[in-house]
Amino acid sequence: MPELPEVEVTRRGFADSARDARVLALRLGKPLRWPLGRDPDAFVGERLGLAERRGKYIWLPVGAGGLLLHLGMSGSLTWSDPAEALPAMGTHDHFELQTDRGSLRLNDPRRFGAVVWAPALDRPPAANLLAGLGIEPFDAGFTGTYLHAALRGRRVAIKQALLAGDVVVGAGNIYACEALFLAGIDPRARSGRLSRPRSERLALVLRQVLARALEVGGSTLRDFSDAHGVAGAFQNEMHVYGREGQPCLRCATPIRRVVQGQRSTFFCPSCQKR
Ligand SMILES: [Zn+2]
Repeated sequence: MPELPEVEVTRRGFADSARDARVLALRLGKPLRWPLGRDPDAFVGERLGLAERRGKYIWLPVGAGGLLLHLGMSGSLTWSDPAEALPAMGTHDHFELQTDRGSLRLNDPRRFGAVVWAPALDRPPAANLLAGLGIEPFDAGFTGTYLHAALRGRRVAIKQALLAGDVVVGAGNIYACEALFLAGIDPRARSGRLSRPRSERLALVLRQVLARALEVGGSTLRDFSDAHGVAGAFQNEMHVYGREGQPCLRCATPIRRVVQGQRSTFFCPSCQKR
């Protein structure tokens, strides 16, 4: 599933090229998670602004409003320059924005992705979809002090508190597992009991893990590729994620897998403490 680094890599891949482009046509394929909310013809002639990211959403300003895009479980957005002969939309292409500078296309086999029009980022339906999102991990306000305070009183396991997204966005399954390993924290530890120094350490490594993933183009486990069809490489650097039964890279203890909130958690029972 595309997580924050993959979404950001995607955004960077087309944001500059698409900026100021004029819409020639908007085409839809099969229904996505939510309806577009506007007549596709109404976009023709409008100009695109600079795409931004909020959590795992991309906000693409169009005319006076914008499109809120989400890659869902299996989506990828590709940008093709106008010179490239674009094949007709395939079975899994459900959205295409054709402009005078190139075309943006969403391919999403499982169709959990979304493209929704909103008059502004702080107006419905965008505001509703973005409500309750926590702080951005690269925001200066995301510190150990913040994390410690935000976790206080929570009874859920630290892994689930990270995944919930209301404390900090972007710590999806892969990156939460990796950050907890690097911080030496057992994913089952009760989040409200995390000490201040361990909160500091966790905030620091989470940011490092996400920054590294961005640097190498994200993770490609099944089918993620960036806006130009290039795969990520972070999967080659994972310490625990997807390594059940294999020796820990630090202490050789077999990596364990447990299920928390219906998601697999991978950790080293020796390096990571409650
Ligand atoms: Zn270990």
